Amino acid sequence: MLVGVLGGGQLGRMLALAGIPLGMRFRFLDPGPDAAAGAVGELVVGAYDDEGALKELAEGADVITYEFENVPVASARFLAERATVLPPPEALEAAQDRAAEKRLFERLAIPTARSAPVEGPEEVRAALAAVGRPALLKTRRLGYDGKGQAPVEDPSAADAAWEAVGRSPSILEARVRFDRELSVLAVRGRDGDVRTYPLVENVHREGILRVSRAPAPGLGPDLQARAEGYARRVLEELGHVGVLAIELFQVGGELLANEMAPRVHNSGHWTIEGAATSQFENHLRAIAGLPLGSTDARGPSAMVNLIGATPRPERILAVPGARLHLYGKAPRPGRKLGHVTVVAEDEATREARLRDVWAVVEREVG
Ligand code: AMP
Repeated sequence: MLVGVLGGGQLGRMLALAGIPLGMRFRFLDPGPDAAAGAVGELVVGAYDDEGALKELAEGADVITYEFENVPVASARFLAERATVLPPPEALEAAQDRAAEKRLFERLAIPTARSAPVEGPEEVRAALAAVGRPALLKTRRLGYDGKGQAPVEDPSAADAAWEAVGRSPSILEARVRFDRELSVLAVRGRDGDVRTYPLVENVHREGILRVSRAPAPGLGPDLQARAEGYARRVLEELGHVGVLAIELFQVGGELLANEMAPRVHNSGHWTIEGAATSQFENHLRAIAGLPLGSTDARGPSAMVNLIGATPRPERILAVPGARLHLYGKAPRPGRKLGHVTVVAEDEATREARLRDVWAVVEREVG
């Protein structure tokens, strides 16, 4: 089976690493000749809207998927006329626009922070009164890892915030005083079977994910069931096939949906060692029409992202149980270059191993 993938970053690379044992072959489309997935499959170098490159990606592919959601929906539709594209382009479309995403959550009765679409500083000021203070201005498109966001504490900040987001159509969103950030990853098969991974607790710094713990500590059955319900509603509404991630804020016993990604997700990397079936394998099983695997955790896990620089492998691997993943990317500030996972028998051991890994990362790369 030949799987075509839009995007050739580390998510594509880890998809291939999970699919090769299942006899799958991979072809990636990426604008960069040094894309991380080039090491594990055929790489078509081209722009995401280059019809020639898209045709080359689709040629003989049994199924096409994405590892990056900021590809033009028109390209996904162009491919869908030539091959099976999963998740469906509609899922991509919904996740690309924060305003559409908000409408989807609201339609499905999934709680989310108050927000309003805005197209200028005047509208930001008007929306602030409706949404409440403090708020955040977020571009509707192409925002990720905290990029394309600006705080709006009061009306006098509206002009500067509008400039900061590049005068792009945006949403103004109430800032949530959350207890912690969580994410739910779920997968839906071609036959409609849905499996959900245990909720993940995520710690961000400067808008970028640093550490995930799974299953999220101190989780009652209520929150898990609620998150599963939300994920299922979105999956079924979109006719989604494959993995979907929803980022959530926990406020007391409530969960507010922040945003979603119609693909495998950084907060699911722990599943490679920490779950019975990884998010990458389950995504491939789903799009290939194969039975889904168990999403059960093998034990308490944690994942640390390696950002901007990587520690010496021997220092990380000296920590008992630590597993190192390097993506083969050139170092650059703020760039995700790899991650480390620890899996333990109990939470105390997980915390001890996580502390050891974190200490190495801090010492080596700061
Ligand atoms: P996003 O790009 O929407 O995932 O936002 C990146 C990070 O900014 C999130 O992981 C949160 O830490 C923070 N953030 C985003 N939206 C809000 C909000 N409405 N209230 C508080 N913090 C937020």
